[in-house]
Amino acid sequence: MPELPEVETSRRGIEPHLTGNVIQYSEVRNSRLRWPVSEQIMKLADQPVLSVRRRAKYLLLELPEGWIIIHLGMSGSLRILLKESPPEKHDHVDLIMADGKILRYTDPRRFGAWLWSDNLDECSVLAHLGPEPLSDVFDGEYLYTLSCNKKTVIKPWLMDNKVVVGVGNIYANEALYVAHILPERPVNSLTQEEAYLLADTIKQILHRSIEQGGTTLKDFLQSDGKPGYFAQELFVYGKKGELCPKCGEKIESIKLGQRSTFFCRQCQH
Ligand SMILES: [Zn+2]
Repeated sequence: MPELPEVETSRRGIEPHLTGNVIQYSEVRNSRLRWPVSEQIMKLADQPVLSVRRRAKYLLLELPEGWIIIHLGMSGSLRILLKESPPEKHDHVDLIMADGKILRYTDPRRFGAWLWSDNLDECSVLAHLGPEPLSDVFDGEYLYTLSCNKKTVIKPWLMDNKVVVGVGNIYANEALYVAHILPERPVNSLTQEEAYLLADTIKQILHRSIEQGGTTLKDFLQSDGKPGYFAQELFVYGKKGELCPKCGEKIESIKLGQRSTFFCRQCQH
């Protein structure tokens, strides 16, 4: 599933080809995604792209009259074609640009979304989202203040979009390992020092993944290329029974909030 670093990498991959360019028209071959593709997107004609932004895991294409909101769902990906090439089975949406380039959306499982919004402030999918993890608003002080009266469990709390956006299962596992915090602890047991370390660790891990993703940017230009997902360097995620890279103990796995959780009982407290 594309996580925040992949979405940011996608944004950086498509942005130079779209901003300042003009969408001549769209071709929606299958509108039955997670929600039906918005009417306004089907009818696009001669719309300049003013900017390509990201909020949480949504990509936002700014047009003069509104915004195209794209979510990659479970298996969606975007790439830029330099010229027309026959669509394959799962290539559901194209945006045909004035200079002949095509933004092509591929999504085998069709859990993604292409929605229109006249006004992002009133957009229901973006309302109630917490701060961006890489923004200045999200820091140790924020996390600590929010944690004080919470009796829930740390890992699902970190994955709650109202607390912070874009920390999916992989990154929650990895960040708690690096910050030496057991994922099953109650939120209000976090010390101030731990909260600061955890916020910094989340930022570092996401930054590193985005940098790694940068090396795959060329894939956005390969018409036959694989989407821009990238192999992560992981310490504990998916490594049940393997040895902890720090202490050599076996990595354990439990379910928390129905999500696989991996940790080292020796290194995390
Ligand atoms: Zn360990």
